[in-house]
Amino acid sequence: MAGERGPGCGEMNTDILIEALTKITGVRYTKPDCPAELVEKLAAKIPPRDFAMCPGCPHRASFWAIKTAMAVDDRDGIIAGDIGCYSLGAFTTGFELFDTLHCMGAGPGIACGLGSLAKFGFNKPAVAVVGDSTFYHAAIPGLINARYNGSDFLCVVLDNGATAMTGHQPHPGTGFNAAGDAVEALSIEEVVRGLGIAVEISDPFNIDETAGKIFEMTRVPGVKVLILRQLCALVAARRERKKRRVSVDPERCRGEACGCGRFCTSVWGCPGNIWDSVTGRAKIDEAVCAGCGVCAALCPAGAITVEEVV
Ligand code: SF4
Ligand code: SF4
Repeated sequence: MAGERGPGCGEMNTDILIEALTKITGVRYTKPDCPAELVEKLAAKIPPRDFAMCPGCPHRASFWAIKTAMAVDDRDGIIAGDIGCYSLGAFTTGFELFDTLHCMGAGPGIACGLGSLAKFGFNKPAVAVVGDSTFYHAAIPGLINARYNGSDFLCVVLDNGATAMTGHQPHPGTGFNAAGDAVEALSIEEVVRGLGIAVEISDPFNIDETAGKIFEMTRVPGVKVLILRQLCALVAARRERKKRRVSVDPERCRGEACGCGRFCTSVWGCPGNIWDSVTGRAKIDEAVCAGCGVCAALCPAGAITVEEVV
């Protein structure tokens, strides 16, 4: 039941907020009459839409690199996800990468537990995936536990320099506090080194190098941290104009015959990669492409080109 302060658990919605605000402010409000059958009818008319990550989102590249490393490793690694915009790693848009997804901080806890099972014959690599905000909020206890108890797992920190899911609020790595004042940022790598845990950093847009690092680090005993650092596409777009123009060479694009069946549009799935049904070739939606260039690195035909814009 929603009280004046809202419910003590569960999720907020507009009805709960309106009810609380009308009680606090005394404003009269009549909820529009919208029968359940009408809602159902209208919902049936909405075209189905999958969750989507932004064009140029570094998480898409990070997920691809982790998936690639796990496929090469061939031990059927277990990926424990966590809470943030990167929770989309549990769904189609994130290549269904995550095997588990629970509350904030659960990823390192679960991976720590799995990484302690070698004595029972468990030999799969365990990987936890957390965002930078989650790292400061809830991942550190799991890392301490793993370090203290000698667990074997890799914690991948997707450091996009933002608390992107909830509205870009500051966190200890952003360099500004809740009042908007500039403060000294707390370095993730220094915190990790301070815990006596090995740490490496990679750029997720460099898929090959990142996948290679993940592959190597999951083969080393003990707890390790890999920071995948690349700015949230929304923050990057606000800070600077796009510096690269990306296009598809229709002569080189394999079209329907592309190895993975239009790999860029049907598998990779960046909203900037679109399909031209007239020519039967892929193309780039210049209006939304962020110029990250990752699709160009992944195209099996080398048909996507990246040009620096001066
Ligand atoms: S370069 Fe490719 S992957 Fe990057 S934003 Fe543009 S279309 Fe998407
Ligand atoms: S991945 Fe390359 S070859 Fe395949 S459809 Fe896209 S542009 Fe064409």
